[in-house]
Formats: sequence, C-alpha cells, structure tokens
Amino acid sequence: MKPDPDTDSDIDAHCAAFNDSLAAAVEDCVRDPDERRQAIERHGTACHGCGLTLADVYGAIAEGFIDVHRVTPSHYSDDLVPLCPSCHTVVHAHEPQLSIDRLRLLVRDAVRARRTARSPAPTDRQSG
Ligand SMILES: [Zn+2]
Ligand SMILES: [Zn+2]
Repeated sequence: MKPDPDTDSDIDAHCAAFNDSLAAAVEDCVRDPDERRQAIERHGTACHGCGLTLADVYGAIAEGFIDVHRVTPSHYSDDLVPLCPSCHTVVHAHEPQLSIDRLRLLVRDAVRARRTARSPAPTDRQSG
C-alpha cells in the first residue's frame, strides 16, 4: 500500500506547525541569563523530570547544558527548575503545561512499562 502523498504532506505541515509553536514556547520559557544562572546554582544541572544531566547522556561535550523551566507564571526564582530539553518539550506539549510532579510520574510509569515489556518473566539463565 502506497502512502497518500497529500495526506502525508498535510500531516507534515501540521507537525511542523506544532513543533514550531512548541519550540517557541520552550524557547520563551526562561530567557533571562541571570534567572538561568540562579536556578542552576540553586538546583544544579540535573533534570527535575528524569534525573539525568545532559552529560549523562552525551558525555563531557554537554556538561552544564540544561533548560530552565518556569513552573508558574510568577517571577519567584523558587519557580524555576532545570529540565532537560526532552522533558521540557513534553511539559510544554500539554495545555496547560504539566506540573513537575506529573512529569515525574510519567517518566516513572514509562520506565516501568519499558521494563515490563522487555522482560515479562525473569529468566534464570546462568552465564559464565
Ligand atoms: Zn529530563
Ligand atoms: Zn518551560
């Protein structure tokens, strides 16, 4: 079965528009370099969603890189948390944006689901 080119391009256009608006939302989140620095000094560079730093995933080249997310529209620095770009995108993909607690639950559930899918029953294979 061949994919319908019209439908495909509609989907592509839709996805592009969606990704653009999402990228804009993420980019606008915390732009002030002072706010970013304060949040990182306070919370470190580990993502508050998945717990990873970008250096955990990409190595030394990504050391210290992290997005800073504003949890509420207020301007208290308490409301700023570090999020990796993936978690940050997921938070903003939901309207209204996801809470950090909800994000953590999603990450935890997804990890559990992956483990369950990978090994439905533990095997007692001996190795070595
Ligand atoms: Zn994350
Ligand atoms: Zn954000």
